[in-house]
Amino acid sequence: MERTFIAVKPDGVQRGLCGDIMKRFEQRGFRLVAAKFIQASEEHMKNHYLDLKDMPFYGGLCKYMSSGPVFAMVWEGQSIVKLARMMMGETNPADSKPGSIRGDLCVNIGRNIIHGSDTLENAQREIGLWFKAEEFVSYTPCAQAFLYE
Ligand code: UDP
Ligand code: MG
Repeated sequence: MERTFIAVKPDGVQRGLCGDIMKRFEQRGFRLVAAKFIQASEEHMKNHYLDLKDMPFYGGLCKYMSSGPVFAMVWEGQSIVKLARMMMGETNPADSKPGSIRGDLCVNIGRNIIHGSDTLENAQREIGLWFKAEEFVSYTPCAQAFLYE
């Protein structure tokens, strides 16, 4: 089992898309193990996006990501890091296929409504940045035996 970090960005929250995005992960068969609705500081977002610090959009991105609430979640499931990225679509919604979250719900690269970790290593780093150990819940979904053999 893998875990990944997913966040509905401030634009997705403002547009009322948290429910739709959660629903897609639930319906795929993934398990929610932690979640919180918070407004992150600009410092926190600078740390979250540290890999991108030399990009021209870094400053604006971190400001935007801290400008309003985000819905931060940790989801668990088989191959979830890769599958969540496929569900999200491409970074640029213009390149995202219909059926993907970005391909269905947004149009602009700077307002692409969702974040998802791109590698297992980054997922672990991001989960640690956003959640404390006591914020995780442990339970067995009743469908578990029908999702995995
Ligand atoms: N971004 C942007 N302009 C760009 C590339 C990226 O505003 O030319 C923003 C966009 O919101 C993206 C985020 O920076 O989601 C992080 O970029 P990354 O390459 O990590 O894309 P992601 O992993 O979110 O698909
Ligand atoms: Mg990324």
